[in-house]
Amino acid sequence: MAKFVVLLGPPGAGKGTQAEIIAEKLAIPHISSGDLFRENLKNETELGKKAKGFMDAGKLVPDEITISMVAERLSRTDCNQGAILDGFPRTPYQAHELDIILAEKGNTICCVPYIMVSDQDLLERLTGRWTCKAAGHIYHAKFNPPKDPGICDIDGSSLYQRDDDKKETIEKRLAVFHEQTAPLIAYYREKNLLVEVDGTQPIEQVTTALLKTVTSVA
Ligand code: ADP
Ligand code: AMP
Repeated sequence: MAKFVVLLGPPGAGKGTQAEIIAEKLAIPHISSGDLFRENLKNETELGKKAKGFMDAGKLVPDEITISMVAERLSRTDCNQGAILDGFPRTPYQAHELDIILAEKGNTICCVPYIMVSDQDLLERLTGRWTCKAAGHIYHAKFNPPKDPGICDIDGSSLYQRDDDKKETIEKRLAVFHEQTAPLIAYYREKNLLVEVDGTQPIEQVTTALLKTVTSVA
């Protein structure tokens, strides 16, 4: 049975960090809508040009652009056994469309871990986040530092700070989360899919909690 997991949580909750680990353990892809947009920005595609202004402003990219991009990614054969979705869906409309996309192949979401962290902690996490240029591996100056400063442990590429990890943009992104994405908590709770996870624990403990949740559902 294919396993589609939606990781829900505010920016900086640890979705990308955890998705990478869990996806490897379950041998299914990690699909991050933010990474897909950043890949398009790097390659200067039309999609990237359309998304850039929204991302720089800390706003959501419009639903129609985002949904078609993720639908295309989910249509690839490496998703036949499932996927870990990180950063998508982010609006009730995206959530509704995701249900339809999965149902087309007879699939459903198996669980929605909601990684909870306070806004104050999120600001510290995001201002200290360093991301690898080659593949988006995630570090933190204090909480998860690389062995050599500025260098990715995994692929040796250089680390950079994301343009949208500036204080003003982070504040905007957190406001957008509370306004536009938080309604998904109730949406998935009603469907009995939501599992609350304490995201303030150290990375390994969050992983343990998530793996317990993900492996306990069919
Ligand atoms: P998201 O994908 O939800 O935006 P990330 O996985 O990029 O979040 O994590 C945001 C920042 O917080 C990164 O710098 C990451 O290293 C750090 N981080 C992730 N999980 C934890 C944790 N449990 N405790 C402390 N810092 C964390
Ligand atoms: P993330 O990497 O998840 O922090 O996302 C970075 C930025 O990409 C967001 O601030 C949005 O501008 C855009 N983005 C990522 N995922 C979505 C989504 N599901 N819907 C709309 N915009 C998104």
